[in-house]
Amino acid sequence: MYREILSLTKELVAIHSVNGTPGERAIVNHIEKRLREIPYFIKHPDYVILQEMGDSENRANVFAVIKGEKRASDKTIILHGHIDTVGVEDYAGIEKYAFDCDALPEKIRALTDDPDVISDIDSGEWLFGRGAGDMKAGVALIFCIAKYYSEHPDRLEGNIIFMANPVEENQHTGIMSSLEVLKALKLREGFDYVMAINTDMSTPLYQGDQTKYFHAGSVGKLLPCFYIMGKATHVSQHFNGFSASLTAAEIVRRLDGNTDYVEAFYGEHAQPPTVLKMKDLKPAYNVQTATAAFVYFNYFLLGSSIDELMDKFKAVSREALDAVLSHTDAHFKSYAAMFDDEKYTEIKLQTQVLTYGELYEAAKKKSGGVDALIASITKKGLEENTDRRELCRMIVEALCVSAEINIPTVVIFISPPYCPRNTMKTDVPGEQALWDKVQGILNKKFKENNGTYKLLHFFTGLSDSSYIKMDDDAKSVRCLVENFPDFKTIYNVPVDLIQELNIPAFDFGVLGKDAHKWTERLHMPYSFGVLPGIIMDVAENLLSETQ
Ligand SMILES: [Zn+2]
Repeated sequence: MYREILSLTKELVAIHSVNGTPGERAIVNHIEKRLREIPYFIKHPDYVILQEMGDSENRANVFAVIKGEKRASDKTIILHGHIDTVGVEDYAGIEKYAFDCDALPEKIRALTDDPDVISDIDSGEWLFGRGAGDMKAGVALIFCIAKYYSEHPDRLEGNIIFMANPVEENQHTGIMSSLEVLKALKLREGFDYVMAINTDMSTPLYQGDQTKYFHAGSVGKLLPCFYIMGKATHVSQHFNGFSASLTAAEIVRRLDGNTDYVEAFYGEHAQPPTVLKMKDLKPAYNVQTATAAFVYFNYFLLGSSIDELMDKFKAVSREALDAVLSHTDAHFKSYAAMFDDEKYTEIKLQTQVLTYGELYEAAKKKSGGVDALIASITKKGLEENTDRRELCRMIVEALCVSAEINIPTVVIFISPPYCPRNTMKTDVPGEQALWDKVQGILNKKFKENNGTYKLLHFFTGLSDSSYIKMDDDAKSVRCLVENFPDFKTIYNVPVDLIQELNIPAFDFGVLGKDAHKWTERLHMPYSFGVLPGIIMDVAENLLSETQ
């Protein structure tokens, strides 16, 4: 199978399927054509499914179903991967070789002095190319496994679904729309989804790391946003205002990189929150302070529910407002002391923290037509392709006017992207049993070839695996939807469908280095020689009724 996967990987890399380009459709058409050449699918043409996504880029998902003949069973395993890649701007000067796995290594050698890259080229074990690791090798690998079982359905109890999706590198709409097909197959064929295996690239954690990593779930990601309304003042009357800019700074100081907010679950840790945007909303220079400011963070989550996090964000906002007020008051006091005639009186200002849900209710109480207002802002923003974070912020801004807010206020809301977290949980019997079975098979496989591996609860690279299982409870989901401006139109994650299907989402990654960099490369001996056997063992074992 090694040679077959290698050759298909090169073939897929050669199709330029950069996210947002027509190549995303071209590669899906190519995969569909390759599937339809397989005798099994010539015999069963309706087992290959092309799902049009109906988006402006004309993108589609492609599926192939193989029904085992060893013994009929409803048990089904999904093997999936994404077919889009990031762009090639980083190849500066050698872009035209980015999709040519054979020519690229020598072009890179001429431009780099990185000893790790050079020794990987010399070894002949690494395949270079945009998308080689992330993740066309993974798609080629599951294609070849699907093809193998189509030729040997007698080796299979239960069923295999092969699935290739576009739009992974940004909005994840490919996997999200695929859920409709997976649900239809479940209803029509009675499929019982035992697990899904994604082969998205995993990577050594440090130089020389020989451990292979397997993941039984996915990190979640939230984008908490803070819209800060202060009280503007002229620079000649500093202490008459309430600084939105300083409030923004106080929020950033409390959250950015703060390890108190690092999510920990089952002994695994996520990265701390990172500020991704911090700006005031003054359109141009003048001598007034900014009326409003805007801040948002990348926030990785493993175990927390969204309502728990909202409570933390509220506390941080409260502290920030109080800190600004006491700072302003203390300095006003010492400033007044510098003059004989300047009278100090304590600055007493009412301030407030609102969630988007609370702001929405307050706006509705004060003004009519709030939903129509939101819909019109969204419509215009989507037509003009406004950045989604800014679009959500504009809705908040408009609702602050509708709600007639006139005191310093922090509004907390959530904007896209949102990636649900999921894993196999020790207190859910079926999930713990599945974890144990997978671990048992990995133990055996790695003992055979003297390797080391780790089965972790969370894949920390954001991936499509977030969208097939979701561990948030109803309260957490409600908190998400209530605090996400125009959720249904702006970023309609099909939370109900994800929770209904609830498919254990594993990642058995091909092994690569430097994803999204011009030195992206894939380790062939492991990815083509070892990993297919592991995936097939897991599939056959878990589909077998005796397990
Ligand atoms: Zn990927």
